[in-house]
Amino acid sequence: MVVGDVSTGTDVAVVGGGPGGYVAAIRAAQIGLDTTLVEMDAYGGTCLNYGCIPSKAMITATDVAHGAANAEEMGVYADPEVDVGEMVEWKDGVVDQLTGGVEKLCKANGVNLMEGRAEFAGGDRLRVVHGGEGQGSESIEFEHCIVATGSRPIEIPGFEFDGEHVLSSRQALAMDDVPESMVVVGAGYIGMEISTVLAKLGVDVTVVEMLDEMLAGYPEDLTRPVESRAEALGIEVEYGLAADSWEETDDGIVVTAEDGDGNTESFETEQVLVAVGREPVTDTLNLDAIDLEPNEDGRLETDRQARTDVENVFAIGDVAPGPMLAHKASKEGQVAAEVAAGEPAALDYQAVPAAVFTDPEIATVGLTEDEAREEGFEPAVGKFPFSASGRALTTGDSEGFVRVVADEESGFLLGAQIVGPEASELVAELGLAIEMGATLEDVASTIHTHPTLAEATMEACEHALGHAIHTLNR
Ligand SMILES: Cc1cc2nc3c(=O)[nH]c(=O)nc-3n(C[C@H](O)[C@H](O)[C@H](O)COP(=O)(O)OP(=O)(O)OC[C@H]3O[C@@H](n4cnc5c(N)ncnc54)[C@H](O)[C@@H]3O)c2cc1C
Repeated sequence: MVVGDVSTGTDVAVVGGGPGGYVAAIRAAQIGLDTTLVEMDAYGGTCLNYGCIPSKAMITATDVAHGAANAEEMGVYADPEVDVGEMVEWKDGVVDQLTGGVEKLCKANGVNLMEGRAEFAGGDRLRVVHGGEGQGSESIEFEHCIVATGSRPIEIPGFEFDGEHVLSSRQALAMDDVPESMVVVGAGYIGMEISTVLAKLGVDVTVVEMLDEMLAGYPEDLTRPVESRAEALGIEVEYGLAADSWEETDDGIVVTAEDGDGNTESFETEQVLVAVGREPVTDTLNLDAIDLEPNEDGRLETDRQARTDVENVFAIGDVAPGPMLAHKASKEGQVAAEVAAGEPAALDYQAVPAAVFTDPEIATVGLTEDEAREEGFEPAVGKFPFSASGRALTTGDSEGFVRVVADEESGFLLGAQIVGPEASELVAELGLAIEMGATLEDVASTIHTHPTLAEATMEACEHALGHAIHTLNR
């Protein structure tokens, strides 16, 4: 403890108030542990303030405008006027409502909230620095500490974020007006979600991607519809190019990118958004004080109870291994809190869904056919196209399909992949099915409401069983 520190004791100290940390803190307090949550920026973390929620609000708002402007087929003629400033104000209102809710929920559950940057000062002590050095600090003695410090956008050399010419995703989602043109570096999910928003607002978007595919890691038949819709929106995607520098010109900036053979290409634009991935945040923590070292990815290794190599220190969310997803962070937070309370909780990653909120959406859960084969299953696969779904046709958006993967012998569902309308919502049913050990028969014999998109999951399971009604059983 440094001179002048006030010291408090707590059963569980949680560092970081994102969807990992605040959920862990609420769960720990619910179980009856004295819990202190320390946050150095904004409750709700990246997800609520700068990530999931702002991006989805902007996606929905631009979909409303774009949908109205492109509904002639339905006999609707409209030319919506978009006030980007007001759209952003609405988005900020949604964020404020949610982040305010986090604070209220924490308090109502009895979580002690503390603002400041926490760093380890020993195996059972954190030092919390308020608002910067010299503005006072205090110490927390803890029994257990849950590290939930999240991640930040990766900067590439020569493209330091300045908020003016070179933007991070956080800065792009905070713009109160849009530029005429934008180069987006990276065709991952963040790059493609924001590119879609910008294109729907009339921005001239060029995506520069080092690999030769969009949304790497997702099966090609899921990304193809996204690629063609992006093209239809006027998004130009340049593959096999790595952005390497930019310079200011009289009219904006020029971004230069290089291919694998050393050839360069230049793109004139107003701004560049760099969305090449995120890196875990561990440098705020003074990990040396507890002899804990990040692995080569910069993350803190954990076991199935979210424990690090230091017995009473847990790590959850983006700072721990696995996909950087808000719902994964929250689940790990709940498990860490329960384990800290002595409960026999453990993590189970067999059905972690992932969604990309592009146009159309992509969502996956569990295993693909290839992964199932690699794990020794003989997979049975069923597919249902949205073009055969009555509900999809009534929404005017019938591109894509639901695919289910099951174990042929037992019928147990192993995974699902969806591209199309509401894929992010539809995947929930199949996640539950996998989690519950449901079979193709279980889902196929469940009566689904008509007409809904969800019928497609039932039909895909029927297809895997060879008796789909609304598609041919080949
Ligand atoms: C544009 C964008 C869109 C996204 N969309 C989605 C989506 O649709 N779905 C999805 O699942 N995920 C999405 N994500 C990812 C999601 O935001 C993260 O996976 C999630 O926020 C991780 O939660 P976390 O609690 O681990 O960390 P974070 O949310 O990053 O929170 C960590 C918190 O810790 C605080 N902190 C750090 N160090 C300290 C310290 N020493 N002391 C005190 N506080 C500290 C930080 O200020 C921060 O508030 C998106 C991300 C971005 C950027």
